[in-house]
This record gives sequence, C-alpha cells and structure tokens, in this order.
Amino acid sequence: MALLLGCIADDFTGATDLASQLARSGYPVVLHLGVPPAAHVDGADVPFQIIALKCRTIAPEDAVSQCLDALQWLKAKGAQQFFWKYCSTFDSTARGNIGPVAEALMNALGADQTIYCPAFPENGRRVFMGNLFVGDVPLHESPMKDHPLTPMRDSNLMRLLAPQVKARVSAVMQPVVAKGRSAIAERLAQLRTEGVAHVVVDAISQTDLLEISAASHALKLITGGSALAQPLPQLYQDSGVLKPGQASQQLLLPTGGRLVLAGSCSAMTRAQVAHYAPLVAHLQLDAVSLASDGIGPALAWLKSQPVGQPKLVYATAAPEDVQKAQELLGVARAGEVVEQALAALATEAFKLGTRAFVVAGGETSGAVTQALGATSLRLGPEIAPGVPWTTTTLEGETVALALKSGNFGAANFFEHAWTVLDEIAKGGR
Ligand code: ADP
Repeated sequence: MALLLGCIADDFTGATDLASQLARSGYPVVLHLGVPPAAHVDGADVPFQIIALKCRTIAPEDAVSQCLDALQWLKAKGAQQFFWKYCSTFDSTARGNIGPVAEALMNALGADQTIYCPAFPENGRRVFMGNLFVGDVPLHESPMKDHPLTPMRDSNLMRLLAPQVKARVSAVMQPVVAKGRSAIAERLAQLRTEGVAHVVVDAISQTDLLEISAASHALKLITGGSALAQPLPQLYQDSGVLKPGQASQQLLLPTGGRLVLAGSCSAMTRAQVAHYAPLVAHLQLDAVSLASDGIGPALAWLKSQPVGQPKLVYATAAPEDVQKAQELLGVARAGEVVEQALAALATEAFKLGTRAFVVAGGETSGAVTQALGATSLRLGPEIAPGVPWTTTTLEGETVALALKSGNFGAANFFEHAWTVLDEIAKGGR
C-alpha cells in the first residue's frame, strides 16, 4: 500500500476524530503531530495519513504557510488526494482560516474547484440550503455564538466563506443532493463552467455524505468535517485502489507498565477518576503544592511504585478547588504547573519502563505527547467513540497511547482502556 489520502486538520482533537473515522474502515491510519521532518520514513505504506496542526485561530498568513508545508510533505510522500479538515461547526474567525487555507491548497495543487461540507449528522450538524444547523437550531443561535475565539454569528456558509476567498462561491442544495451522486456531480460540473471554485454542499444524513464523497471522488482537494471522510476508504476499495484484504490493522503492542495521567477537570473525567482511584495505586496532584514544592514528591512517589502495577496520577479536581488554585496562582500558571508536572511524570514513567499511557485532557495530552517526543501515532481500535488506542515509537520502543478529550468516554473508561488493550494483544479486536 502507498499513501493515498493526505489530510490536514486545523486542531489536534479534530485530527484524532478524523483519524478514528478513517480507522473504522480497518485500513491503517497514521496521525502526525505537526509536520514531520522530510526524512521521516515510518508509515510510508499507510494509505491514510493526517497531519494535526494548531492553526484554527492564528493569523491567516501563518495558517496558510503551515498548511502549505503540510501539503508539501504529504505530496512528497505520494498522496493522491487531499482533505482539509475543520470543525463541524465551521469554527473560523472573520478572516479565516477555512477559506484562505483551502484556496492556497487549491492553487498549490492546480485544482479549480473544491467542496465545503462540515456536516456531521450523527452529531446533529447538518447543512440545509447552505445553512449550518447544530441540532435543531441554526449555528448562530447555538452555543457557538458565544465561543471565546470563534464566535459564529451567521449560519450561512456561503456568506461566511465569500469574504475569506478570492474566487466565486456557490452551493449544491438539498434538492440536488437528494437525487444522488450523478446529480451532484453534474451540478459541480455546471458550476465549474460558470467559474465557481468554492462549492458549499448540503448534507443532512450519512447517505448524503456518501453520495457527496462519491460525486467528488475525482477532486484533488475536498474540505469538510470528519464525517465527510468516513465513506472514503470504501470508495477507494470500490475503485480498486485498496484491496479488502489490506484492511486489517496489526498493531504492534508494547509490554511494560501502565499509567493513567489525568489533567482534565471536566465532569466526565472527574467521574472516571472517582471510579478508578479506589481500584489502583493513585496520587493526587495539587496545583498550589506543585507551585511551592515542585514535582520532587510526585516523582519520588512514582519511583516507589512497582512498574508492573497500573497506576493513576491525577490533578483532576472539583470546580471550586480549581478556582481556589487559579485565584492563588493565576489561571495560566495553575494550568502550566499541572501540565508540566504530568509531562515530567510521563517522561520519568517511560524511563522506568511504562509502555502504555492513558491521558485525560486535550491540553494535557498535548503536553504529555510533546514531553515524550511522540510525533506520529498509528491508529488502533477505539476504546470509546472518538478515543482510539494508538501506538508510537520512542527511542526504539513501542509505546501505546490513548489520548482522551475531557468529556469523552464512560465512567469506567480507564479500566475499559486496559481491557481493550489486552483484547488487542490477544488478537480479539
Ligand atoms: P479538557 O480536555 O477537559 O479541557 P485539558 O487538559 O484540555 O482538559 O484542560 C485542563 C486544564 O486544567 C489543564 O491546563 C490542566 O493543567 C488544568 N488543571 C488540571 N487540574 C487542575 C487543578 N487541580 N487546578 C488548576 N488547574 C488544573
């Protein structure tokens, strides 16, 4: 197998979401955290690769430059088709970065048309007559209207996109989409003759997304939410580019210690910590003590524990305790000391022989993967929707990582994660 679809995602959790959607096909998927070095060779045979960037709200010029670097890397590795992934609520600032990046990628690829479809019907995101809905309300009436960085005050995707791009914007609306792939393809072709480069496409169901993917299979670049990518492995298979027999993930699993690191304070992570702490050796970190005493005591605790036993280290706390720490230390410093401590504990645990980590919290996951030096993750089976087991290679050693966004998973998630890992090892997943 060779690289087929090269994806660029504008944030980390969005990239994980896209990677999980593609990995459900059973075909190998690799998620790169940032643009890998040109010499990176691991995963050359993987058909679906995603580069996770953090460019949603940075200046458009910087986002364009980062995405062009990512494109260059994917092209050099042989990618045939490209996917620009953004949030299903079309999170963007007034200037971008969805449009400017799409247009820059199109120019670099010599593509004269692309589609925009953030719909994710399973999660209640639907596009109808060019307008994006969240559940049963238009985007601009949803909680996204008050987002601190990307407040969405308009639901019309054409109106949002037009000021972000130079070329013409139009749409393929539901009455055409409902007729299926040939009708959609015909409409796209017609719009192309009219010089329309940017086409918003309605989708209210998973079937619509399948028809849209099929109709746009020849496009060099497609753009949208993760749900639009879900039908792609099957389409590649149907067109003979991928063989069904290649759809078997063979994760190389590590043997060694297991550690849960929780830095999220979300309601679900609090329930997960409450459930798991009584079952294993555990240590609670406190931001104020960390700021005054450093991480020495926590490291000493870790070293005193048998490597083979699963453990839990958590800073997870109730909102009133977090608030107290934030009042004493400031919001940024409180977060920083906790993230640095969990990152340092991860590094030390790796040195001590830990080879499987479950990390709770988006920012926490970023801090831990960076400290460990993890740059490319191979996707494995999901533990819960949107949270896959992944593996990476650190200093020649295979390490398993599960990176969980705060509110994901059920109360028994941590325990369940180890069960799933054991099942994968036995070949049962
Ligand atoms: P989530 O995915 O739930 O948003 P994140 O890891 O992204 O979780 O964010 C949680 C933030 O809260 C991190 O910056 C973390 O360092 C910080 N934090 C965790 N525990 C505490 C605590 N006890 N006091 C103060 N800040 C904390």
